[in-house]
Amino acid sequence: MITVLRIGHRINRDKRITTHVALVARAFGADKIIITTKDEKIKENITSICKKFGGNFQIETGADPKKIIKQWNGTIIHLTMYGDNLKKSISKIDKNDDLLIIVGAEKVPPYFYENADFNISVGNQPHSEVAALAIFLDRYLNGKWLTEQFNGKIEIIPSNKRKKVLSKKEKSD
Ligand code: SAM
Repeated sequence: MITVLRIGHRINRDKRITTHVALVARAFGADKIIITTKDEKIKENITSICKKFGGNFQIETGADPKKIIKQWNGTIIHLTMYGDNLKKSISKIDKNDDLLIIVGAEKVPPYFYENADFNISVGNQPHSEVAALAIFLDRYLNGKWLTEQFNGKIEIIPSNKRKKVLSKKEKSD
């Protein structure tokens, strides 16, 4: 089980990027996202995408991050440009453990660095929580997300020429 903990979300400023963090979490193999700020709009948006495109991805908003971290029974990872080498760190993670992956927005308080089992960098240049999460999940899961079946109401058929989409009715015909 992989859960992403999105901290520091500012409702107006970060709505698009937090939505992208949630979509990347879902598409790249995580099971759940917890956004510490209460935001019903993002919750509705992601839930509606899940209904359409399938899978069992869960979203919760308005949670106390310190409580989650204190109660977490598994490995806690914090993605930060100041962290240790990605490849080296992934090799040390127990693959049977539930993962909590923390990504920030604005400046991340020391508490998160201190309470993570692993502070991991995806390169040591500043970029984005969306990119950091995507690359981390891809490397951690060895690309497994690419073949995951979501069994949604609609399914996109890869095409070099045009948009090709199957609806649930067509899928069952
Ligand atoms: N300036 C903030 C700080 O010093 O904590 C970070 C801002 S950054 C736009 C937002 C988030 O993206 C970070 O909290 C981190 O989770 C992620 N991030 C950005 N660059 C990263 C990198 N090179 N490696 C891992 N995570 C990164």
